[in-house]
Amino acid sequence: MAPPRHILELSRKEQREFIDSFDLIISDCDGVVWLLVGWIPGTGEAINALKKAGKGIKFVSNNSFRTDEQYMEKFEHIGAKGINIDDDVVHPVKTMVRYLNKHKPGERVYSLMSLEANETLRKRGIDYESLQIKDHLTAASLVDNLSIDKPVGAVLFDIHLDLSYVELAKAIRHLQNNDDCQLIAGGSDVIMPLAENLNVAGFFDFLEHVKRYTQREATFLGKPSPILGDMFREMFNIQNPERCIFVGDMLVQDIQFGKSCGFQSLLVLSGCLTKEDMWKAPKESQPDYYADSLADFVQLLENIK
Ligand SMILES: [Mg+2]
Repeated sequence: MAPPRHILELSRKEQREFIDSFDLIISDCDGVVWLLVGWIPGTGEAINALKKAGKGIKFVSNNSFRTDEQYMEKFEHIGAKGINIDDDVVHPVKTMVRYLNKHKPGERVYSLMSLEANETLRKRGIDYESLQIKDHLTAASLVDNLSIDKPVGAVLFDIHLDLSYVELAKAIRHLQNNDDCQLIAGGSDVIMPLAENLNVAGFFDFLEHVKRYTQREATFLGKPSPILGDMFREMFNIQNPERCIFVGDMLVQDIQFGKSCGFQSLLVLSGCLTKEDMWKAPKESQPDYYADSLADFVQLLENIK
């Protein structure tokens, strides 16, 4: 495999061939379109320019702790035009709803997810239970909270900034209570890049905690799960995966995932990785192309006019 090339270091002819080589872009959000906290200059302009050049563009995130409205506010802030939240934006709670409707229609679930993710479940008609306990807990009140009124068909796990011990304990109780209760997880990120120079631990170890006490494997529906790759093919009607390019700022969740779906891949350095990290990565997670940021597409499209 040839080493990754910067899209603006390709010759003009190669830049044109590169643009002509894909019809659909599937782009990660955090670290690519914006930062978890903060912005990346020129990304809205790039999205609009790519659309104007006739490219389809879809967005996929491992973060469900935003409501549809909050996603749209972010797209509006960067000036990206014509984004349809239902058709163009995919994140774990949406793929969970899709999965539940197919595999566990009508079943009640227990949510270990954020208020925002729960709001998405509610809006999409999923019957869910969640614990939001703000009071001081005693051993006695913990016991009360762990009683099961109604069994659930699945425990849903995703990034949840208010996650507490009692919520985890209840999830374990539900899984132990019902052999058919499935553990379904969104993002499995080990590191969460919060802001510039601020990377914190992801939620992966909390999921490991649940697995350890239930001997249950999780069904992952976020990147880099192959189930999500299959959903893309269905949702976006992808006939020729090689005419699709995956853009992301992480090597395993984005680049390796995109390649495993048969897509071309582009790493942007606007997230938490440096060029050195890319060169050090094993071959299977090195991208076909790289760029400083999604905004480089503005320059590239200008170059080939
Ligand atoms: Mg990212």
